[in-house]
Amino acid sequence: MFRNFTCGDLRHSDINSEVTLSGWVHKVRDKGFVVWVDLRDRYGITQLVFDEERSDKALLEKARELGRETVIQITGTVIERASKNPKIPTGDIEVLVSNLHILNPSILPPFTIEDDTDGGDDLRMKFRYLDIRRNPIKNNLIFRHKVTMEVRKYLSNDGFIEVETPYLIKSTPEGARDFLVPSRMNEGQFYALPQSPQTFKQLLMVGGMDKYFQIVKCFRDEDLRADRQPEFTQIDCEMAFVEQEDVLNTFEGLTKHLLKSIHNIDTGDFPRMTYDEAMRTYGNDKPDIRFGMEFGELNSVAQHKDFNVFNSAELVVGIAVPGAASYTRKEIDQLIDWVKRPQVGAKGMVYVKYNEDGSFKSSVDKFYDQDDLAQWAKITGAKTGDLICVLSGNINETRAQLSALRMELAERLGLRKPNEFAPLWVIDFPLLELDEETGTYHAMHHPFTSPKPGQMELLDSDPSAVRANAYDLVLNGNEIGGGSIRIHDKDIQATMFKHLGFTPEEAKAQFGFLMDAFQYGAPPHGGIAFGLDRLVAILGGQETIRDFIAFPKNNSGRDVMIDAPATIDQSQLDELHLKLNL
Ligand code: ASP
Repeated sequence: MFRNFTCGDLRHSDINSEVTLSGWVHKVRDKGFVVWVDLRDRYGITQLVFDEERSDKALLEKARELGRETVIQITGTVIERASKNPKIPTGDIEVLVSNLHILNPSILPPFTIEDDTDGGDDLRMKFRYLDIRRNPIKNNLIFRHKVTMEVRKYLSNDGFIEVETPYLIKSTPEGARDFLVPSRMNEGQFYALPQSPQTFKQLLMVGGMDKYFQIVKCFRDEDLRADRQPEFTQIDCEMAFVEQEDVLNTFEGLTKHLLKSIHNIDTGDFPRMTYDEAMRTYGNDKPDIRFGMEFGELNSVAQHKDFNVFNSAELVVGIAVPGAASYTRKEIDQLIDWVKRPQVGAKGMVYVKYNEDGSFKSSVDKFYDQDDLAQWAKITGAKTGDLICVLSGNINETRAQLSALRMELAERLGLRKPNEFAPLWVIDFPLLELDEETGTYHAMHHPFTSPKPGQMELLDSDPSAVRANAYDLVLNGNEIGGGSIRIHDKDIQATMFKHLGFTPEEAKAQFGFLMDAFQYGAPPHGGIAFGLDRLVAILGGQETIRDFIAFPKNNSGRDVMIDAPATIDQSQLDELHLKLNL
């Protein structure tokens, strides 16, 4: 038997017990006449003691020689510690060792296995198995397990059945690029890894499963933006005989359950905001509503004076930054530089200081008097002591720029509190999105999303005006879930493909299986998918999803530990009938 207790178990009440423990040597403190060893496993740390008085000489020497991360097994007696450590649960006791067995020595680890390690990102990723021994990563993985258990519990109790869908499927245009897998047995043909189980879960509804979920890997071969993973996990869900309201209620219930069970937080009903309102008020379809700084559109009060920059703009829009009227000229110049960075792209920024004495001082005093600026303050909700930041230009770009500035300022002002949770639904998304480059329309969500009732007709006359039965769940400025009520009628689905630029033949070749299935009594259905990695990170009060994934890929999509992707042998290529053209 390797152990009868873990390193996190022993307490004051165990004093005098004879115990066997196994674990890793975390630290050795050699005081000459006494040697302490911190023994670590997943459950905690237990202090071992060896000394000149009570330990055999050879044993004391052996303890002194122990290297970090050596795996050992010990037997000994639990005794009371002279100086207790209230910071750890086993801090009242130590184990006086009578027997020490080295199970496996360790070479020197490339970084310290401490909460604050000296290992940089790359090194930690290369030796991820050592990184996982550290509390921050270990605890994140345990936290993730807890969240997924709560998800499974909640959905199972609500009648959802977890069903697995295949990973080797057909390549279909679902938005991103597919990862492809060559088929050895079918020369020249390829499987694709699913971007999501979308069509399969719809077929499960046709199959009468009624309520489905799956915690499932999805694969998207996209250019990696910061903190995106080429493979990631969804909580994928679908329900039959539902309207949007039913889906929102069910998954609001799940989210409330998670906040309650994980953080003991009771949230009221989630606010709902239309996509148009979110864009107008926050310049963003995933607004962080933990703080104000709502947009105030200033066209009516700022245009038709002599300031040409504003007169020629489609949109003049500002936010009131709390307490920032005290910013120095230098600080404001820095803000202006910040919005002019290529990543943000603004041409400049107009500002108004709303002084404590009620007067205004702006960068455009030449064009606007105190009464004009008082109107700006009213519309942006500015109070004395605030700084009003105003951007102008084309509607979409200006909103995106001001949204970026709003988030940046909130970050700087400490308004994005990690332990505060502000969920909301964003609803009534546009069905289609115009690709400015090609001039063609894409499905904003995916091609299976249904338009709102009565809007089908608009598809021909005014495609961008058509709203979809689509919704996102947003938490603290992140989209954590998105879904829609689906099309379940073959003809409507065919019309949708036509509008998305598919010929009937292309639609049949790629999605014939789905449209065929719709002919056999497909129930009305809809669903949602949550991004589990991000959800867990946000619930854990952290930013980086990588810290919640056991073996993540780096920013270039590489696993630096196993060194993948990698080349393959010529014989493997031959078997797959592949010729490289490098
Ligand atoms: N399959 C969709 C996605 O991956 C989610 C859904 O519509 O349920 O975004």
